Amino acid sequence: MTSTSDTEVVIIGGGAAGIAAARRIVDAQLGCLLLEARSRLGGRAWTSTEHSAFPIDLGCGWLHSADRNPWRDAAEAQRRSIDKTPPPWMRPSAPIGFPLSEQLAFLKAQQEFHHRLDSLSEEQPDVASASFLEPREQWNALINAVSTYVSGAELDRVSARDLGRYADSGVNWRVVEGYGTVIATHGHGLPVILGCPVRLIDHRGRRLKVETTNGPIVADAAIVTIPSTILAEETMRFIPPLAKKTEAAAGLPLGLADKLFLSLAQPEEFEKESRLFGRIDRSETGVYHVRPFGRPQIEGYFGGRLAADLEAGGVAAFADFAIRELVGLLGSHFANRVRPLKLHPWGVDPFSRGSYSYASPGKADCRAELAAPVDDRLFFAGEACSQNDFSTAHGAYLTGIAAAERLIAARGRKR
Ligand SMILES: Cc1cc2nc3c(=O)[nH]c(=O)nc-3n(C[C@H](O)[C@H](O)[C@H](O)COP(=O)(O)OP(=O)(O)OC[C@H]3O[C@@H](n4cnc5c(N)ncnc54)[C@H](O)[C@@H]3O)c2cc1C
Repeated sequence: MTSTSDTEVVIIGGGAAGIAAARRIVDAQLGCLLLEARSRLGGRAWTSTEHSAFPIDLGCGWLHSADRNPWRDAAEAQRRSIDKTPPPWMRPSAPIGFPLSEQLAFLKAQQEFHHRLDSLSEEQPDVASASFLEPREQWNALINAVSTYVSGAELDRVSARDLGRYADSGVNWRVVEGYGTVIATHGHGLPVILGCPVRLIDHRGRRLKVETTNGPIVADAAIVTIPSTILAEETMRFIPPLAKKTEAAAGLPLGLADKLFLSLAQPEEFEKESRLFGRIDRSETGVYHVRPFGRPQIEGYFGGRLAADLEAGGVAAFADFAIRELVGLLGSHFANRVRPLKLHPWGVDPFSRGSYSYASPGKADCRAELAAPVDDRLFFAGEACSQNDFSTAHGAYLTGIAAAERLIAARGRKR
């Protein structure tokens, strides 16, 4: 039986993981309700069409590992346009403030850093990724800046073991209509309650009691897909508490990465899909994707402590910082050619509290702990639960499917 107060399976969180899980549960013909705190589906996948003449992805934008990414199949099924232009980080940057010879030297230093990091065997103790920086290497600051874009955190906070476990096929594509559009569309037709934050799950009795701001819901099983930060902060609680889960989530904080979209006047001066680093001598710097999809825009990307500091000052702080860096590269007249369009501060967003998970040093195995079911009726999914595809939308999808399969098997055993 499924009503808005009694169902077989409740899914908490309508992001990539929750949508994938709900679709699988519905396909298995189990009763299901997807509870989402926000007024929209998608979570950290969010395409906005309000602030720009083009759809802009405020959260995930790249179909990483696109050759094996299940969201690519969904995009194709929805007849979206897939752009296969290689990403700016796999091509040389514009030689503005960063001559090509220096780019080559940086690339070499970065490759050597990753080579050293990958040499950490499973038998050795885990350490911070920063341990693999070569002391006094000229490019350490920029390698660290890239870590703030990739992990949302500087290398001193990131587990080397976890980073080494990340699997990337090297194929990165985009969806012209927006990655967020594909993910939200995949949720169309599911039994969803929007604007419904869950406050606690009471799992003392025979059935689960799920307390929401809209009233209680009773269910036999749940798939919890809320971000690890929210589990760690216990904004949503369990009775009795799940101490091991909270501890695992605390080992997997969400790093911070924010995008600022700027409009760009006289765009023809720049090559389409080019890239600029604000500075190459410090880790607190933005990276600027100029004319993404050939559009008259710049997408600024800011990560780690810099993004956290800027969030304290709001959109104006991001715009000031970005324009100052761009003027530093392109001259004072450039300030008149750009205008801020949109930024979403993911760190202060109460339903994400960050952008994507990294593991703290020594905490790589928290991902398996976080993903482990409790009593065959509380299941967990979300990008932070993925061993090898964490921090991504396709990782979230795969954990959602895995949790749903486990739940379906457990329900089969109970019948
Ligand atoms: C700026 C940025 C850029 C990114 N770029 C990429 C990229 O290029 N490629 C890529 O693959 N990934 C990227 N990501 C990461 C990707 O967006 C996420 O990994 C993925 O969307 C996470 O999906 P999820 O389902 O695990 O979590 P979420 O999307 O966070 O879903 C969890 C849901 O739970 C809801 N929720 C929270 N609390 C409650 C509650 N108490 N009750 C009910 N609901 C609740 C939230 O509102 C949310 O909808 C990016 C993210 C950001 C922020």
